[in-house]
Amino acid sequence: MKKGIHPQYYDDAKIKCACGAEFVVGSTVKEMHVEICSNCHPFYTGKEKLVDTAGRVDKFKERVEAATKLKNLKTKEPKNARSEEDKKTAKDK
Ligand SMILES: [Zn+2]
Repeated sequence: MKKGIHPQYYDDAKIKCACGAEFVVGSTVKEMHVEICSNCHPFYTGKEKLVDTAGRVDKFKERVEAATKLKNLKTKEPKNARSEEDKKTAKDK
């Protein structure tokens, strides 16, 4: 290897996960902190787990709630209007 161009390489770099798991890997960074790893990621555990960073899931739930409220408001009126129209047309016939 050419001297002076390669970063320091650590054979025993520690990776610490938020779930408490620790891994030893080779890296140029001696210690890393991660939020999710193969020990706790839903893909490997098979359990449903929401990976929420910065409250994005909560924000999405709020949006869905607001959207369903709007939808209910919008759909209720036309349904009544339609049924009344149907009654009228039925009477006309
Ligand atoms: Zn983990």
